[in-house]
Amino acid sequence: MAKGFTGTLLRVDLTRNTIEKVQMPEEFYRTYMGGTAFGAYFLLKELSGAVDAFDEKNIITIATGAATGAAVSGASRCCITALSPETGGAGDTQLGGSIGPMIKRAGFDAVVITGKAEKPSYLMVNDDAVEIMDAGHIRGKTILEAHDVLTKEHGTKNISILQCGPAGEKRVRFSCLMGDLNDAAGRGGMGAVFGSKNLRALVVKSSNMVEFADTAGLKALARIGSQRLPGSGFPETLKKYGTPGVLAPQAEGGNLATHNFSRSWHKDYLNLHGATYEKELAAGSTTCFGCVVSCRKKVKAELPWKVTDRLGGPEFETLGLLGSNLDITDPAAVAKANELCNNYGLDTISTGGAAAFLFECLEKGILSKDDCNGKELGFNDPEGLFWLIEQIVNRQGIGDTLADGLVTAVKKLGKKTAPFAIHVKNKVPAVHMAQVKPSLALMYAVSPIGADHMSNEHDWLLSSQADISKGLGILGNGDASCADLNKVRMTAYSQYYYSLLDTLCLCMFCWGCGSLFTYRDLEDIVKSATGWDCTMFELMKVGERRVAMLRQINARQGFTAEDDTLPSRLFEKLPDGPAKGRCVDSKLWPEMKDQYYEILGWDRKTGNPKEGRLRELGLEWAL
Ligand code: SF4
Repeated sequence: MAKGFTGTLLRVDLTRNTIEKVQMPEEFYRTYMGGTAFGAYFLLKELSGAVDAFDEKNIITIATGAATGAAVSGASRCCITALSPETGGAGDTQLGGSIGPMIKRAGFDAVVITGKAEKPSYLMVNDDAVEIMDAGHIRGKTILEAHDVLTKEHGTKNISILQCGPAGEKRVRFSCLMGDLNDAAGRGGMGAVFGSKNLRALVVKSSNMVEFADTAGLKALARIGSQRLPGSGFPETLKKYGTPGVLAPQAEGGNLATHNFSRSWHKDYLNLHGATYEKELAAGSTTCFGCVVSCRKKVKAELPWKVTDRLGGPEFETLGLLGSNLDITDPAAVAKANELCNNYGLDTISTGGAAAFLFECLEKGILSKDDCNGKELGFNDPEGLFWLIEQIVNRQGIGDTLADGLVTAVKKLGKKTAPFAIHVKNKVPAVHMAQVKPSLALMYAVSPIGADHMSNEHDWLLSSQADISKGLGILGNGDASCADLNKVRMTAYSQYYYSLLDTLCLCMFCWGCGSLFTYRDLEDIVKSATGWDCTMFELMKVGERRVAMLRQINARQGFTAEDDTLPSRLFEKLPDGPAKGRCVDSKLWPEMKDQYYEILGWDRKTGNPKEGRLRELGLEWAL
């Protein structure tokens, strides 16, 4: 067995109350390499036909990658994969912190969970001692409260806790999982999958070390990361301000979701910029295991809202979706809304999208306060937002309607509300504007996991003359705003690359195109971790295979090309700001989609992988 991996998966069936340690052959590891691809493998291998995400047959996999546990920057993220309660298709989300390294240290490459426990439970992994334990005493508690109880019981050293909050217990379809207190596996409703399985938490304890093939090689990569950080541009900004440090440049480029995605710039955007948080609310930083970037910023406030620094501060996406997109630009207000979401276990992006939908329906007079339990709500109303978050997490009144996502909300509230429901496959897009970034418009529509901003590199890559684009075989050139074949090719190739990062569980902020590490470094980290002499060709195929697997899961769930759509608002010209007049080009749009399907070897009509492409990727077993 190659080093880097332990060769063992932990399989837990909560219905049968069984725990197994399963050895997988080296071929399995070399073909799929970890992360999302492990989770997708089990969904395809063990389920047949369409399965509801809340069915106890759903399989949730928490997986590591080859280098997880190595003290190299950005090398220790963790992927969580299951059928998504939010989209109904493949669900996949990542988080940093230390849960990935802790799983590997305990002796497992992944934890694969199926079934449903009879009563509230949590899974305790103490090296190779694994137990399903009673979680009755933490049921209904917030993330902070449950964390404190569990660490009191199991100690605070060499421990990591992944848990859903009360939102997951109530099966809010966009509830997240929180890794310890600072890291959210935000998207796709993985918290609700835990909730549907009566599983509150996964607690992992270990003081073991992970064995790698070439420790000196990994140390050299760690050094390279540290040496390149000063003067690195984006990673250096992250070190200083975290992701909020990109808010001002993005807003100045007209790329900041505002007023329910109808505008892309807010006049008070500087209130939400990283420098403002640093000046007014900063409370230090944390980092993921082994990472020198340390981009996880904490915030703290006393007035007008008390915000604890125990939970992570707002990220860029949160500042948009709980801030500018709701016309809220008070930094403490966004920090408070972020704290509430983190403490209840709600995805900040989809929560903000649901609120923006409701506020615009109220603004347009389609709904009234009678639809909101008599409560006056609207844009630029922090207290109203806090109230709404509580309603969602407790599934009360209008909150219960929103908790199932925007498709259900439109069904319940009436067709007139549909134009204001901004989502793809029931998932709210991120703060990056499809009107401004054509490759992102395409990816929002075609991504198997719904509107996702982390599945490909954004449009700047095509206009880059540097080796960072050529190194991926992107030889064409073009303006960032173009929507031609070159842009489609760039979208597809960079999607394979980012998909590869999500199998290796590498952080995009360090390993993304043009960041701290090069493509050669990527070959090196795989070799140093495992001993495998992989080429970039083999690795890119691993990324492509993962995309095809996720798409094939969707095919089985009944998705077709007709689900690859964008909300009509995104085809309307932006009214003002630096990107005034920009929109998704409705004339080029069908051609972009067809070109994308052709490049990936997917059927134009169904949008699903053709048999030949699945065979070429060694996925004939998944037909
Ligand atoms: S760059 Fe930030 S998110 Fe990525 S691994 Fe480092 S600390 Fe974690």
